[in-house]
Amino acid sequence: MNVTTITMGSARFPYRLGTGCVDQIVARLGELEGSRYLVVADTTVAGLHGNDLTERIRRSAGPADLLVHRGGEEHKGLGTLNQLTEAALRLGADRRTIVVALGGGVTGNIAGLMAALLFRGIRLVHVPTTVVAMLDSVLSLKQAVNSSIGKNLVGTFYQPVEVLADTAFFRTLSRREIRSGLCEVVKNALAIRPSMIDVLSANLPLDENYDDDVMRWIIHESIAAKAQVTENDMHERRQGLVLEYGHTIGHALEHASKGEVPHGAAIGLGMLAEAEIAHRLGMADRGLVELHRELISKVGVDLRFPADVNPDDVRLRLRYDNKRGYLNSAGEGYVMVLLKAPGVPLESEGLPLTVADRSVADAVVDEFAHPAAVAARPAEST
Ligand code: NAD
Repeated sequence: MNVTTITMGSARFPYRLGTGCVDQIVARLGELEGSRYLVVADTTVAGLHGNDLTERIRRSAGPADLLVHRGGEEHKGLGTLNQLTEAALRLGADRRTIVVALGGGVTGNIAGLMAALLFRGIRLVHVPTTVVAMLDSVLSLKQAVNSSIGKNLVGTFYQPVEVLADTAFFRTLSRREIRSGLCEVVKNALAIRPSMIDVLSANLPLDENYDDDVMRWIIHESIAAKAQVTENDMHERRQGLVLEYGHTIGHALEHASKGEVPHGAAIGLGMLAEAEIAHRLGMADRGLVELHRELISKVGVDLRFPADVNPDDVRLRLRYDNKRGYLNSAGEGYVMVLLKAPGVPLESEGLPLTVADRSVADAVVDEFAHPAAVAARPAEST
């Protein structure tokens, strides 16, 4: 497995990446000398990979149990966390127990919090199985669950001791989930690491028949992109805010579509809309919008809002976006990440954020909901 050291402020941990390397994952877990291994997985991942991994750990690393939780955002809450921690303690967890988070970002966040809370902190190893988890959530120290009031509102920062990643886990992943992860890759390329764009574009679309070499390259580049903005900002409150690119309109769309638009696709459309806003505000040229359109459509995302999404709902959500609190000058505009060019975010008050004029952003949302209007608009040049 190839090893990269991840550094985020004072946190440092190895990220080992390979293909078809479950034996090496088990061997590495054994070297960590846990008194017991608690493999946490959702029901889907437990059936596909959890039983096998737990059995292999038991055979060659030490006592191991599989703790299964129901999957999906609706189960990423304190209720699930409580059930899992109680089960862990009943199974005899102690301070030398290792929590192995096997799965996507949902399991990673729940197991991350579980490891942070048991005995005020025991070792956490991430074994990510989705593209989103491998290149995004395991590279963040943010661990949170949802509350009835909103997403990711209850949590803390906690670091894993290792990330052990195998791209062969993607073989069982649906096309929808692979595409969702690829939208985050496009975000990394456009907002942080434009040197990725040509190779990425040449290799899209990537679906179930993905090439492992390409996947490892994508993950490697995404690790580098994320490191670039979080190395000195472990809490993602300064330069790391650029990772929110596409998320202002994307989150609003995700909510307004009531889950019909998956997270990654919503971020893809959010980036395209935000590029259009930057262009309308005179801050970016049309070429930037076209580059977004090319990459996002190559991933396989439909470039329109679904017909039943009401643009008023999207706009309502935009008013409550949590990035408002970062700028004193937020005023009546929407606070979002806007790019001047690939890899060049516009800045306000020393942060990669801009206050976008509300009427311009509202009009763009309307046009994405009624694409005929966009198509009919004469081409502009800057
Ligand atoms: P997820 O964990 O729900 O996984 C998506 C689906 O894929 C699930 O149904 C799961 O059962 C299934 N799955 C996982 N691995 C599989 C495999 N190998 N084969 C077949 N099916 C598999 O979602 P996700 O997209 O991985 O992550 C999204 C979550 O991550 C959100 O809750 C988000 O808040 C969180 N997240 C956190 C951070 C952070 O900073 N900590 C960053 C990004 C995302």
